Amino acid sequence: MTDTTPATDAGPEAPARAPITRLWAYARQHLRLLLIGGALSFAGGLVGLVQPLIAMDVIDTLSNGESLTRPLLYLGAVVIVGGALSALGPYLMQIAGQDVVLTVRKQLIGRLVRLQVAEVDRLKPGDLVSRLTSDTNLLRTVASTTVIGGVTDAFMILGGIGLMAWLDPVLFGTTMAMVAMVTVMMLFIMPRIQNATVDSQKALGDMGSLLERIFSAFRTVKASGAEDHETARLEAAATTARDKGVKASFWEALAGVAAFMPVNIAFLLVLGVGGARVASGAMEVGTLIGFLLLLFYLMGPISGLVASLSQLQTGLAAIHRVEEVANLDSEAERPEAAQRESHVAVAEGPAQVGFEDVTFRYAEDLPYVHHGVTFASGGRGLTALVGPSGAGKTTVFSLIERFYPATSGRVTVDGVDVREWPLEDLRGLIGYVEQDAPVLDGSLRENLVMAAQDATDSEIEDVVKTARLTELVEKLPEGLDSRIGYRGTTLSGGERQRVAIARALLRKPRLLLLDEATSQLDAANEASLKQVMLDAAEHTNVIVVAHRLSTVTSADQIVVFDAGLVRAVGTHAELVASDELYRDLAASQLLTAA
Ligand code: ADP
Ligand code: MG
Repeated sequence: MTDTTPATDAGPEAPARAPITRLWAYARQHLRLLLIGGALSFAGGLVGLVQPLIAMDVIDTLSNGESLTRPLLYLGAVVIVGGALSALGPYLMQIAGQDVVLTVRKQLIGRLVRLQVAEVDRLKPGDLVSRLTSDTNLLRTVASTTVIGGVTDAFMILGGIGLMAWLDPVLFGTTMAMVAMVTVMMLFIMPRIQNATVDSQKALGDMGSLLERIFSAFRTVKASGAEDHETARLEAAATTARDKGVKASFWEALAGVAAFMPVNIAFLLVLGVGGARVASGAMEVGTLIGFLLLLFYLMGPISGLVASLSQLQTGLAAIHRVEEVANLDSEAERPEAAQRESHVAVAEGPAQVGFEDVTFRYAEDLPYVHHGVTFASGGRGLTALVGPSGAGKTTVFSLIERFYPATSGRVTVDGVDVREWPLEDLRGLIGYVEQDAPVLDGSLRENLVMAAQDATDSEIEDVVKTARLTELVEKLPEGLDSRIGYRGTTLSGGERQRVAIARALLRKPRLLLLDEATSQLDAANEASLKQVMLDAAEHTNVIVVAHRLSTVTSADQIVVFDAGLVRAVGTHAELVASDELYRDLAASQLLTAA
């Protein structure tokens, strides 16, 4: 019907299914409720038909001079039952519609949270939000009243057409020519409604993305005096959404006309052809009148069906945008890894990490970040990764966590390729502290237990102490349960980092990966951070991307990175003696300004 190719390449094994099939797959799960609701609504309508009969009864009763009690009781019952059915039926259908939305949302949520890091790098959060909220909402009407209404109308039309064929084949042929005309026009118009809806939903998504973009750097936007500029961008997106919506309405209106005109032409033709046939005696007047009445009666269902089909296009547009996300690659286990006896997961003590001639690039059209990295870090102790900004240090951590696969070579944990590890086990043994903004909206406690939901109060207390957060907890109005703002905006950089470290430690990791922030710590903080690392290194393998001389000099092993290669490995003293780049870095306190 329309272009169903997802915006992203989901790989040859995942061909996009037709949106109509998907819509049906979702609606089918709630079909029972939908049918019950539809049946009740229908019954409510039938009960309404009884009212005139009772009215006749009332008149008879009156003229016979009998008591009105009986007919009035009937009337009361009919009003109550009819009213109840007419309320309950649509209500049940709305529930079914909401259920469909819920099913779709759950599927989408499951996908979104498990997307690959590489996918998220390219996607816009605001647009994803709008797919989850706004697009799914479009499905509600479609999945409830549209389906039932459309099916009812279609049956009535089929019945009417059957009757026509039975009444008079010649007039039937004339009418069918018009039906064919309507069909052709609908085939032309319907995809256009769908495309216009996709465009208008996309414009909504863009608006969401623009808003997200502003709030993710709100202080910078304000400080740059960029409010006017950003407002203009948002308003442009809102205007686009309006224009696209109008365009969809245009095609919908045209669909209405396209259905109406041929039916009226059919009316005239039937009158003309039928009149001639009646005059020549080939047909009786009664048949012609019956035929015309049928045609007249069918106008309602026909415009109803066209309206349903238009609504269906909206639903298909929504499904299209939802499915685009559903078709993105999520973090799939290799089958053999999922089944694997995770002997490694039960291992205890510090984990071993190995890089064996690893090359890596973030995407095929990007240059290589690693050109053959080899190093090992085993057992307890502190390994420091140092090197100029952009040398590929943070990328080392991403490969260990398997956020991305190595392009060639092997990254191993406990001697096993990370690709062979069950993902949950692999990440379960690692505590990872990101380079920046490692705090989420919520309370301090929520932030801490994120990686260890079943941590006890005393364990939390311990890490608070270890990460030197006691003072902060005492200062906050509600202690551990205080909210710390979107991305932890109410904390200082050093506090944020220690919260992230505490979170990682609460997991009791066998491997701690710590990406030092370049410039967030004062001297006192720096000293205590160093102590936290050294304490952890007593029983854990700690690898730290180090920007500070004090961290580096305490390391058991230093790996010097330069332009995607390991340039040298050794202790501080060894490297100062042997490596020129290291000497320079050390002389500048290793602080690598970005
Ligand atoms: P370092 O931590 O040593 O400063 P990184 O490992 O962060 O360096 O980055 C190495 C290179 O990879 C840089 O040139 C950077 O621009 C690039 N890079 C980092 N992250 C991504 C990404 N998600 N997508 C594409 N390129 C990236
Ligand atoms: Mg980095």
